[in-house]
Amino acid sequence: MSSKNVLIISELQADHHTLTAALGRAVPQRFTVSCANTLERPVEALIDKANDAVILAYAPETDYLLRLAAKHDIPTPIIVLIDKHTPSLVEKLKSFGAMDFLVRGQIHDDLLHRIIDYSIDLKHANHKISLLSNQDTLTGALNRTGFRAHIRRAVERSERNNVKAALLYIDIDGFNAINEQYGEAAGDHLVQVISKRLAAKKRNTDSVARIGADQFAVVLEDIHAEENVEMIARKMLSTISEVITVADQQLAVTASIGASICPDHGTQYEDLFDCAEKAMVQAKSVPGSTVFIYADKLQLNPASQASLAVDLRHALRRGQFVLHFQPQIELQNHTVVGLEALIRWDHPERGMVRPDEFLPMAEDMGLMQGIGYWVIEQAATACNWLAQEGLDHIEVAVNISFNQFRDEKFTDVVREIINKTGVDANRLEFELTETSVLRNPKEAKHVMDALRDLGICFSLDDFGTGYSQLSHISDLPITALKIDQSFVSELPGNKNQAGICMALMAFARELDLTVVAEGAETQEQVQFLTAHLCHQVQGYFYSPAIPLDSVPRFVQEQMVQTAT
Ligand code: C2E
Ligand code: MG
Ligand code: MG
Repeated sequence: MSSKNVLIISELQADHHTLTAALGRAVPQRFTVSCANTLERPVEALIDKANDAVILAYAPETDYLLRLAAKHDIPTPIIVLIDKHTPSLVEKLKSFGAMDFLVRGQIHDDLLHRIIDYSIDLKHANHKISLLSNQDTLTGALNRTGFRAHIRRAVERSERNNVKAALLYIDIDGFNAINEQYGEAAGDHLVQVISKRLAAKKRNTDSVARIGADQFAVVLEDIHAEENVEMIARKMLSTISEVITVADQQLAVTASIGASICPDHGTQYEDLFDCAEKAMVQAKSVPGSTVFIYADKLQLNPASQASLAVDLRHALRRGQFVLHFQPQIELQNHTVVGLEALIRWDHPERGMVRPDEFLPMAEDMGLMQGIGYWVIEQAATACNWLAQEGLDHIEVAVNISFNQFRDEKFTDVVREIINKTGVDANRLEFELTETSVLRNPKEAKHVMDALRDLGICFSLDDFGTGYSQLSHISDLPITALKIDQSFVSELPGNKNQAGICMALMAFARELDLTVVAEGAETQEQVQFLTAHLCHQVQGYFYSPAIPLDSVPRFVQEQMVQTAT
């Protein structure tokens, strides 16, 4: 059994003698004891890894020392030696982080040995748990929680020592493409290698954290000049871009780094993080590996894409998304038979932002799955509300992007949403694009069949624009085709469009599918579509997407118009 070093801190020589003797009687011999009268440099003494346990005689400064030890997350258990067992004192000592206590005059050998053994084991276990919960499981680097704590301590040290600290926000370029091309195991390997390389470049006081799928952050302490930050960041970029072997391929990745400096850009975690992220987004707009240090002159133009990307990360949590609903009209009787849920971002400064402006960015930033589930749940809630309003015959269609659809949890989460909201799933339709389903028709069929069993039906959106392998369509549980508005916009005058439209409609009829024409804006377009037996139309001619609470009135008005 390896020897455990116990440090005894007391002004009383009698304590040194009693405890040293009692520890010396342990069988087997396992304690090495050192004694000190006071703590001149308390943190250094407590932090000293050579000590396995500290016995600290209670004195006026004990509370302060315990708090200091807790604040620095010192891994050594502290056992306090007191004169008398007073419950309130013991309570207080424990609340300050004391591991246990000993009472003078009541120290038996067995008890002392056991307390020290237990305290060391318990402290180790606690320390390990805290390390694990602060650690990213894939790379062993800190996770966001651990990183937040580290930044807090780094900021305190920087204030105390009057030096600066810096936060680097590192984003690997093109990570999604690597994941897609070589598979997720290859992506994981890449992240592990990069994490190791970053750790090798950091100094002892610095720390590396993984804060997103392909994002890392590093705290640099003891910074004396901005140039140092840039130099270190460049070193990190060059180590990242060394060749990595992934799935037997030699890859060289680039990365973008944004940096913020404490205290210049803030002393709070959130401020430093936001500034570093904004600088990173700016760096990303420059091709290749680039470093940007946040600076006022660099402050993002609030109208820029980069600033939009930063806001997008918080939009879901801040409740800034809304759904509008565009009516789908049955041409035979001009009544509303469905609604397409279309997302809008109600941006505090820019007003309503349309999906084409932010969805591609959300896909790139890996936010689409979260947003997508939110949309499904809102659409389900909308269905329930419509039923309460007496409109339970109206179906609600939701757009599902490729990345959402290929999430392996997709079916389970959709099932959960159906159960949670109690929605009648037969009234939900998912709109998929040709590209989503036809990239891997077998896999798509598997997922679609499972969802079909839950009651959900499918339409093929933007039909005609993808790389239609039409032969697969009949194998899939699809009930409707939505002809893209690029084939409708110049009807009936444009012969090309008219020809394609008629061919697509004939194809749909052949497969017994409902045809919905999108983007009809004029009476002539609607007449042409009606004449060629298109089933349904969705377009500005009838209505743009409207808020949910305007739907019942629109349905009413439409019925009145039809009747007259
Ligand atoms: P989409 O699914 O093809 O939706 C139809 C788009 O055409 C909507 O644009 C709609 O407002 C627009 N539109 C409808 N009628 C007319 C018309 O008569 N004239 C013109 N010029 N446009 C018309 P929006 O809302 O901007 O959505 C654009 C695309 O964004 C959608 O195309 C869809 O692919 C995507 N999207 C919207 N919401 C969501 C969502 O919740 N999830 C996902 N994954 N994608 C969404
Ligand atoms: Mg759609
Ligand atoms: Mg469409």
